[in-house]
Amino acid sequence: MRLGKYLTLFTCLAISITTIPALATVKLYTIDCGRVYVKDFGDFSNTGFFDGKPVEAAAPCFLIEHPKGRLLWDAGVGKNETIAGLKLVINPVTPELRKIGLTPKDIDFLAFSHLHIDHIGQANIFTDSTWIMNPDEWSNMKDNLGEKSLVSYYPKAQKKLIHRDFDVFDDGSVKILLLPGHTSSHQALMVKLENSGYVLLAGDTYHQRESRTEKLVPRFNVDRADTLASMDRVEGLVKLKKAKLIIQHDIRDFKSLPKFREYMD
Ligand SMILES: [Zn+2]
Repeated sequence: MRLGKYLTLFTCLAISITTIPALATVKLYTIDCGRVYVKDFGDFSNTGFFDGKPVEAAAPCFLIEHPKGRLLWDAGVGKNETIAGLKLVINPVTPELRKIGLTPKDIDFLAFSHLHIDHIGQANIFTDSTWIMNPDEWSNMKDNLGEKSLVSYYPKAQKKLIHRDFDVFDDGSVKILLLPGHTSSHQALMVKLENSGYVLLAGDTYHQRESRTEKLVPRFNVDRADTLASMDRVEGLVKLKKAKLIIQHDIRDFKSLPKFREYMD
């Protein structure tokens, strides 16, 4: 009798253990959303480090799949055009998303490192997403390269307004970090992955690996002191969290990431 009771208890325990759902993991996909070819990268350092050097820059989008929703970080290049010494080439995100069975409607949240054309190009197709925006970045957006038309849906979009760092899913796994300097409220994204650890998508804190090693500040950044302070914060986080830093525009960093449809988790 007693043995039977224990057996029943054991069976119940075994069943409850096996029916506990596996811990849902966060996935990070890198999607090719275009290229920016710069004939003379000189303006990307105020020391002259890049003067006369041509650069092929990646313009990726990043998809973060979290048990509570999907976030797209940055929206790549919007069209093929040559403007202000930049040759922009689009790689449309919709067919890429289709490769993993998604449409733009499946993207719950859209957020940008900042509002430059190579980060907002395809934003307007995300009409069902909640746009996470720092109003300071929005009000200081320039329009000399057609930026406003690329985010013309924003006034009608569902919005989540943020003013500082923001924990997207409220569990510390996906955090937007305020890192001003490149623009007035430039941001990066820190993602905590179960197997890969912390990954820091640095936005345009740095444009190339050399920008990091040489601490280079672009000539067109809005604030040099803020830029340097933001770089210090990034390096502090990288050190503390042992984070993998991704320089979004660096084609070497881009190519080092799992090729879509593969992902980091
Ligand atoms: Zn950029």
